[in-house]
Amino acid sequence: MGSEPFMNKSKRPINYLRLSVTDRCNLRCTYCMPEEGCAFVQHEEILTYEEILHLVRLSVQSGIRKVRLTGGEPLVRKGFLGFLERLCAIEELNEVTLTTNGVLLKEFAADIKDCGICRINVSLDSLKKERFSHITGRDSFERVWQGIQEADRLGFSPIKINMVALKGINDDEILDFARLTLEKPYHVRFIEFMPVGAQNCWSWEKFISTDEIRSRIETLGALRPIKADRFGGPAERFALDGSKGEIGFIGALSNHFCTQCNRLRLTAEGHLRSCLFSEQEIDIKTPLRNGNHDGHLLDLIRLAMEGKPEERGPLGQGPRKCIRQMSTIGG
Ligand code: SAM
Repeated sequence: MGSEPFMNKSKRPINYLRLSVTDRCNLRCTYCMPEEGCAFVQHEEILTYEEILHLVRLSVQSGIRKVRLTGGEPLVRKGFLGFLERLCAIEELNEVTLTTNGVLLKEFAADIKDCGICRINVSLDSLKKERFSHITGRDSFERVWQGIQEADRLGFSPIKINMVALKGINDDEILDFARLTLEKPYHVRFIEFMPVGAQNCWSWEKFISTDEIRSRIETLGALRPIKADRFGGPAERFALDGSKGEIGFIGALSNHFCTQCNRLRLTAEGHLRSCLFSEQEIDIKTPLRNGNHDGHLLDLIRLAMEGKPEERGPLGQGPRKCIRQMSTIGG
């Protein structure tokens, strides 16, 4: 079995698969899946767990070593734990992680840990109950917070908290999120608001750059840089003096991490996507369902890896919009 990482044209190893298990979600974040206007994929068009496992087993043959489960909200899909157990049993995978909105985390955390997952990302855009409801359309702040506490109690480490900073909406909480890292061992990640999806009302007025977020946080003290970890994710990592946790910046628009991007995406409906900001997708579900042999499917996976764009252009030229909704791609 070819287990060396597959390199794209610029000799970059593509070893990280972001896997969307569903496009459904139990929140209705205004910038991601607003209450109105979101079309869902028909159930029969969503990859079955069996199909996903088959494709993951093939993708490890092309060098995938890390899988992140995402969605939609992965914890809302029926039978998720059984699937997770089987996924985590794939020996060639060094790491399986999960991104969740945390609403169901309290109930699921122990079982997720038993499957072998110990790192988790929780998306949380506000520490204020009312504002959380305003952004997400659901009154679930307490549940998310309890989910985080439960994950903490069970020893998940690190617990990454992803905050999408939106100017005029939650940017007044940037310092509160940064301060969390002084008290808790959490890794708070500030993510730039991206123009993804037809309804996400992205605008420069709501956009706040990593540089701006960073300079606000520096009013709390100097940020000490932390070296990239073994999978070299896109976050620039720092810590405040005396902190238990760390602070990361994902400058999805202003920082050009295209050249370091090691990700491939598999959408809930079975399309391979090599870049969030390129509309090019390869439908791997149809050949899979038509009974094409594994060699052909493997060729498609490698084609997607090879086709990863090198660069999507500087911020100054204006961001490319990703037309598809984030929940169908897997954020
Ligand atoms: N439901 C899971 C969760 O909440 O983490 C996984 C899917 S969600 C689409 C993944 C992440 O994408 C969340 O952190 C969400 O805030 C982020 N996201 C969605 N739309 C975004 C956008 N336009 N810009 C930046 N981040 C976005």
